[in-house]
Amino acid sequence: MNLTDLTFVQDFIGLAADASEKEWHERNGGNLSYRIRTEEMDFTRLRFAPELKETGEWTRIGVSVPELAAECFLVTGSGKFMQHVGESPEENLAIVQIDTRGENYCVLWGLEKGGRPTSEFPTHLMNHAVKKRTTDGLHRVIYHAHPVDTIALTFVLPLNNRTFTRELWSMITECPIIFPEGIGVLPWMMPGGREIAEATSDLMKTFNVVVWAHHGVFCSGATFDEAFGLMDTIEKAAEIAVKVRSMGGKKNDITMKNLKDLAKEFDVTLNPDMLD
Ligand SMILES: [Zn+2]
Repeated sequence: MNLTDLTFVQDFIGLAADASEKEWHERNGGNLSYRIRTEEMDFTRLRFAPELKETGEWTRIGVSVPELAAECFLVTGSGKFMQHVGESPEENLAIVQIDTRGENYCVLWGLEKGGRPTSEFPTHLMNHAVKKRTTDGLHRVIYHAHPVDTIALTFVLPLNNRTFTRELWSMITECPIIFPEGIGVLPWMMPGGREIAEATSDLMKTFNVVVWAHHGVFCSGATFDEAFGLMDTIEKAAEIAVKVRSMGGKKNDITMKNLKDLAKEFDVTLNPDMLD
């Protein structure tokens, strides 16, 4: 057994393969991170000790995440291609550990030909910190992609949570059941830094999806399937929205009453800020 055969590594690779097939990851676009369970990390340390590096070299994260002190993450590397993750995970991924103050990280495994974690690592970690708190530790996956139709919508719809939520809720009947809290939207911002990390994690307190205008989408989930499925649902709804608009716009619609009836039938609470 190799380290890359571990279930959480295989699930990570599975998402990267599925996502590449969807064409959401041109070149080195997009990134993925997983907060490793304590028991998974204990097993990894026990079984693969010789493969783990204990360099003691710490690098500043650029943001402070004390909630994640001593946690370990599997994360894509900066400049690495999602499509290559499966063929050489040890070159394209890293297992990193956060220090006891939540301000630095060190690479324990991976990035064999050099590199560092994704440039969006501050946003990933701040989102993980928020989700660890707001979901009682349930959410472990943060996923960023560049899906075409969702990005296209950010050039025509007003950039606010309510407009995007209502547009996407109305495109597939199951959307309000899958993301009853709605979705958050940020205007164009400089990627890779503290400011966009703070703005995104602020929206993640309410939402599991944050759209970055003219750039892409961040999703959060308890599992790889959940995070990928959410991205897939958002993008499919956006694709329908683009097609409906290309055909001259809506002639029929799911009504506000339909939405409220759905919520009742499926026992979900729709975010009241998005309703009439
Ligand atoms: Zn991006």
